[in-house]
Amino acid sequence: MGTKNIGIYVHIPFCKKKCEYCDFKSYTGKESLIEQYIKWVKYELQEVGEGNRKDYEEGRDDLVIVKSIYIGGGTPSIIPSKYISEILETIKQYFVLGDIDNLEKNNIMNDELIKQLFNHQSIDNTNNNIANLANNIKTTEDVANKIGNTEITIEVNPGTVDEAKLKEYKKCGINRLSIGLQSTNDRILKTLGRIHTYTDFLNTYNTARKIGFENINVDLMLGIPNQTIEDVEESINNIIKLSPEHISTYSLILEEGTPLYNKLEANEITLPSDEIERKMYWLVKTKLEEAGYTHYEISNFAKKGYESKHNLACWNQEEYIGIGAAAHSYTNTVRYSNADTIEEYINNYETGNEVDNIIFHEKQNKTSKMQEFMLLGLRKIDGVHIQDFKNKFGENPIFLYRKELEKLVNENLVEIDGDTIKLTNQGLDLANLVWEEFV
Ligand code: SF4
Repeated sequence: MGTKNIGIYVHIPFCKKKCEYCDFKSYTGKESLIEQYIKWVKYELQEVGEGNRKDYEEGRDDLVIVKSIYIGGGTPSIIPSKYISEILETIKQYFVLGDIDNLEKNNIMNDELIKQLFNHQSIDNTNNNIANLANNIKTTEDVANKIGNTEITIEVNPGTVDEAKLKEYKKCGINRLSIGLQSTNDRILKTLGRIHTYTDFLNTYNTARKIGFENINVDLMLGIPNQTIEDVEESINNIIKLSPEHISTYSLILEEGTPLYNKLEANEITLPSDEIERKMYWLVKTKLEEAGYTHYEISNFAKKGYESKHNLACWNQEEYIGIGAAAHSYTNTVRYSNADTIEEYINNYETGNEVDNIIFHEKQNKTSKMQEFMLLGLRKIDGVHIQDFKNKFGENPIFLYRKELEKLVNENLVEIDGDTIKLTNQGLDLANLVWEEFV
């Protein structure tokens, strides 16, 4: 019997209004289904927590410890906060929370503790029972320090939360907010069809700080129609002044069928050229690094110690379980997802066809797992550590991918530096060419 960290993702697919560029699995005008939906989300959590969903978990004999929980959407912040509390209560009831790295580092993971945790006799890291189990732990505070907190994030849209809601989030253990700002320019927010203004964002951000949230991510978008480099500069300067712990910056990709895509096709809007979009990216990178942020993944920046555990786990090919409609999971080398729509998800449970909720994608073999490890790992600015690869797969990536790496190094897209294989600055701009070699 062993132990392993996992992440849990819970999808809340409700939105007030569809943004003009949105291709995500999110729906408007379905508020009447919220209660029913949450009921089955809690059921699914229980089912997985109790180990009853065997389909892709055969042979699972490890104790799973939840290192991160991410409540995303959609717009999780538009549903009543009591449902968010209920979801977290359910997770605490059926899973063990904590960070195994800390447990091992502090030498407090022993067989007896594992056995007790397996029987759900002690659930979260504030529970006194753990103190009784580990000889070298004396107080609950000590426990919390040694086990480390599970990172619990909720996505919030500006203007959809008030002080009471944020207080309830804090009370039920949420310790990280991810606020979808995109731009501090109201004209651009309007182009995107966002429901909020910059002032709404400031109100949400300042209220969250007042209540005591100490880990906040802000999303910034680049390459928006009619967005100039000066607009981006103004946005990033405004964000830096607020000093959030984490900033994600993504380039707009217009998917077919979205209103903005149709406007582009009808020549009603134009997008910044690739060259300008790259200049925006490098401007943001330079400004954030000057302000003390670490660029740790192609699109993500953080103050030291605030890198997102949830996202890092995905890039490190660790396991996660997705709960709710359209949520994706990765366990025991199998990738699968849940039925896409809210109605399908609910109906499959209510008619006893819950097996139809699971859509199989892929069972990895060693080759596909190694390729994916390279592809995901190269997203990180630190890249892939050769020793980590050897430890995980018993193979040397330099030898295994010598043809691909030789080509990428010659094209100046990848560099090999001691124990590390990583993107060059040019590779950051042309990452797609790198991924192609590992698909
Ligand atoms: S808030 Fe997010 S999920 Fe909802 S419509 Fe806008 S982009 Fe899509």
